[in-house]
Amino acid sequence: MKPRILVVEDEPGIADTIRYALTTDGFEPVHCSTGAAALARLAEQSVALVVLDVGLPDMNGFDLFKRLQAQTDAPVIFLTARSDEIDRIVGLELGADDYMAKPFSPRELTARIRTVLRRVQKAERAPVNTATQTIPITVDEERRRIRYYGRPLELSRYEYGLLKTLASRPGRVYQRDELLALVWDDNAESFDRTVDAHIKTLRAKLHAIAPRLEPIRTHRGIGYAFADDLPATLD
Ligand code: CA
Repeated sequence: MKPRILVVEDEPGIADTIRYALTTDGFEPVHCSTGAAALARLAEQSVALVVLDVGLPDMNGFDLFKRLQAQTDAPVIFLTARSDEIDRIVGLELGADDYMAKPFSPRELTARIRTVLRRVQKAERAPVNTATQTIPITVDEERRRIRYYGRPLELSRYEYGLLKTLASRPGRVYQRDELLALVWDDNAESFDRTVDAHIKTLRAKLHAIAPRLEPIRTHRGIGYAFADDLPATLD
């Protein structure tokens, strides 16, 4: 079965080019030229991946992205015509899987689509049975304390929440906005950058105990995962 790719792009020329490249490369493209049409389409059909133009006539691509995420787990690749880096960074911090700046080569786009799909499939296949995995983390929920290799960590409230969440499923990649939703209060002034800042301080505390180990792994453009291949002891 060909992977179905939703292309949300309002410029007919670009949309046609993408559709052609996708069909040639063995994908099944589905095209919508507005955000509203894309949302309606997704309500009817599941897709493997979404290619999303940031500049749409009826809504901002970033807003659409957030609404898409409520409807689908499909990874998203942004298309942006604006050359300023900020747009790109915002795109990635939202939890988008990749982006391409216009003009781009259709071949490059289909190559990126393959890469993202492979990465997602790999993450889905990754074992999530924590019962059989031994990780050097013990969580004491009642006291809200976490030990790493038997040593107690002095953690802030959000560091505690982040580490508890990540370590609950080693190897599982959490997107930044997922972590925000799971660890932060709804009404907190929080941004994806907030997650990065707390991961940084958390890493420093983990490094203080085991300087050579990298227990929190960064998955570029996606988020973070707790390592599932740490040694059982520190010696
Ligand atoms: Ca556009």
